[in-house]
Amino acid sequence: MVIVMEETATEAQVSNVIDKLVKLGFDIHRSTGVRHTVLGAVGGRIIDTRDLELLDGVKEVLRISAPYKLASRAFKPDGTKIRIKDVVIGDREVVVMAGPCTVESRDQVMAIAEIVYQEGAKILRGGAFKPRTSPYSFQGLGEEGLKYLRQAADRFDMLVVSEVMEPSQIPLFIRYVDLLQIGARNMQNFNLLREIGRLNKPVLLKRGPAATIEETLLAAEYIMSGGNHEVIICERGIRTFETYLRNTLDISAIPVIKKLSHLTVIVDPSHATGRRDKVPPMAQAAVAAGADGVLIEVHNDPENALCDGAQSLLPQQFKELMHRLRLIGEAVDRTVAAPVAEAMM
Ligand code: PEP
Ligand code: MN
Repeated sequence: MVIVMEETATEAQVSNVIDKLVKLGFDIHRSTGVRHTVLGAVGGRIIDTRDLELLDGVKEVLRISAPYKLASRAFKPDGTKIRIKDVVIGDREVVVMAGPCTVESRDQVMAIAEIVYQEGAKILRGGAFKPRTSPYSFQGLGEEGLKYLRQAADRFDMLVVSEVMEPSQIPLFIRYVDLLQIGARNMQNFNLLREIGRLNKPVLLKRGPAATIEETLLAAEYIMSGGNHEVIICERGIRTFETYLRNTLDISAIPVIKKLSHLTVIVDPSHATGRRDKVPPMAQAAVAAGADGVLIEVHNDPENALCDGAQSLLPQQFKELMHRLRLIGEAVDRTVAAPVAEAMM
């Protein structure tokens, strides 16, 4: 931390700031310039910098180290790779996670799983407990939904990702899913983050619609500080002044998070845009910008979907998107799985 004193700061004010910092455990390096006295404070506790800014004679306080440690790039300069069974996230392959917004029936999830598996998706997504904006909307099939997801994923040799909404659901989820999703609305549910931090299970942490990148990395830090380091960040669009689409996809979050953190980053263009015609271009942009994976909603009958039909790709659109992602992947030195029929030839 660097504390810049006002030009007019008196020696008593400088000493007062130094005394406070020493009491907080900092080592102080003082530099007395022609105009300003600058104090470098090293070590010490994590403090609210506003408490220093309010002291007499202080011009500004600049934090130079990030408030998150385990999530920072410095903690693991080479980056993280998360292995779940045969799938590795954070390696050369851009991992595709796809499936319906919500599990509606066994037949529905089986049919969609087969479609996305055939095109190269490795992880089956689907909500069994849905965080709906309206209490009157379909809330999910609960455990039955998790069972159907597991059965479909096992049949097609895929993994399962599904959203866990509260700590009491964790034991149930552990039985059925490979990757626990923390939804955007729950990104700062600190009880949930702490409980999941105690597990030995990978987590897909979605950025909150109004969360800064720093807040997102601090949410990851909550999980990691409990011992669970297997966190994947998901950019899924944030709320801005622009109202044309459901959210604004922050593509720049990909390179920013990758610079600040060693964690892997995936992108969900479905919830980011809310419209199926906008999903493919945004998924393509995400891969071009360095995403380690994409999360895509796909439905075989989107017009009758119980949730998010408008943003769910039709099977043919998903097939075309996968083809384009392979081409883009090649241009940025990444790979995207081939369709299963081709891969077996
Ligand atoms: C979802 O992926 O099902 C979901 C509800 O997304 P988000 O938390 O990003 O809104
Ligand atoms: Mn959805």
